[in-house]
Amino acid sequence: MSAKSDTSPADGARIEFVRAVTRFAPSPTGDLHLGNVRTALFNLLLARSSGGRFVLRIEDTDADRSREAHAAGLLEDLRWLGIDWDAGPDREDERGPYRQSERAGVYAEHFAALQRQGLVYPCFCSPLELDLARRAQLAAGRPPRYAGTCRDLSPEQQARKRAQGIAPSWRFRVPSGRRIEFHDFVHGPQSFLSDDIGDFVVRRADGSAAFFFNNAVDDASMGITHVLRGEDHLANTPRQLLILEALGLPAPAYGHVSLLVGPDGAPLSKRHGATSVRELRERGFTPGAILNLLFRLGHSSPEHGFLTLEEMARAFDPRHLGRSPARFDEQQLRVWQKEAVHRMSLADARRWLATALPRDLDEHSAEAFLQAVLPNVVLPEDAREWVAIVFGPAPVPSEEDARLVRDAGADFFAAAAQAAERSGNDLSAIAAAARAQSGRKGAALYMPLRVALTGRTHGPELAPLLRAMPAHAVRERLARFASSSASKSTDAA
Ligand code: GLU
Repeated sequence: MSAKSDTSPADGARIEFVRAVTRFAPSPTGDLHLGNVRTALFNLLLARSSGGRFVLRIEDTDADRSREAHAAGLLEDLRWLGIDWDAGPDREDERGPYRQSERAGVYAEHFAALQRQGLVYPCFCSPLELDLARRAQLAAGRPPRYAGTCRDLSPEQQARKRAQGIAPSWRFRVPSGRRIEFHDFVHGPQSFLSDDIGDFVVRRADGSAAFFFNNAVDDASMGITHVLRGEDHLANTPRQLLILEALGLPAPAYGHVSLLVGPDGAPLSKRHGATSVRELRERGFTPGAILNLLFRLGHSSPEHGFLTLEEMARAFDPRHLGRSPARFDEQQLRVWQKEAVHRMSLADARRWLATALPRDLDEHSAEAFLQAVLPNVVLPEDAREWVAIVFGPAPVPSEEDARLVRDAGADFFAAAAQAAERSGNDLSAIAAAARAQSGRKGAALYMPLRVALTGRTHGPELAPLLRAMPAHAVRERLARFASSSASKSTDAA
């Protein structure tokens, strides 16, 4: 009867959020994407808001897909965003190492414990056999799960397979007839039947530990109290709880955040534009804009203004994590970006626009230029156009705008050019001289000046733009319309 609420109901209250030890556990298989950044951010905020710790773990056991360059990129992108960890691959402590590829010893020990209890068995099924079995189940309308082919092989049968040179993977013997229940601190109470879960691989044929196993073992041995991760892992949780139980290890509280989707409701992907931190950074988006947007995607907060990470930590509430998919829209990112630019100091703005600004620009001109253009800039590309206008060759007005210049007349510009020379690019002095010469005021006075100086009828505030321009440029841009040929064409018009 009542509508499904979007935030965790009362059951969330059963889970305490005190000194939460959280982690972000990316697999270094590609660039850091917005969905992952949001997970990292929420984990950081959960740790900071509860007086706990935030850990970074690199899940690089999948040697085929993991790349060192991706791992380095992840760390760099997180640092750039200001998402800082208390322990991680570059900040080891007694709970480390924080790279799974360096934890083979830990996994071997726990694997041996499962083996001693007879809770794992070797599986000799080939990928092809597994795939066929899977297809057959799907065709029969059953959810695919391991059929148990190797579960009860006799020692002789196992020996025969080994003699054929088949290296087995090892599967966890999922107990039958169990109900596995837990409180997801985002989604509420969860219940799974062990009979729906096939025996799953904990150790691959090459001897490396598999995801369900190493991920759960690491959470326990690193002292993680709260696992907050993507919804795509929700169905993995009962498997991981079974492993932890079998090993006598403590289970963390689990929460699964909703997916990030594009404006069309489809999972966020390339076709929604730039979605990796690397791409957004290259386009000039700032950490503050990205974090402020993500803070609101799937997390409702009464704080509507632009927040620093510290302020976000104070405002974060895990009970306000939403269950429905959160929509990412670049337009919203641009709104936060505008706010971020508005808050930049001139020094920061100069660094941010470093590649767009002329390299040898003096302090005074840079400051005047930024003051003039920043109110109209969202991304560096917006500043580039004005860099060309202010510091490049004199812009040629369109035919239509040129008429405004001709109407004002050569004497108007002669007076303006002289005033520019005398005053050192002071707009009020230039305007006063042109007014005294022509009797013009308001738009009739300023529009011809603007067109002569910038080649267009609108743009940033003119006074600081002139202060940014080299003195000779202002004089020359005005004087070019003060020549007799200019006045002749004015007469002719
Ligand atoms: N390495 C896994 C991933 O990137 C981690 C999942 C988890 O957070 O437990 O999806």
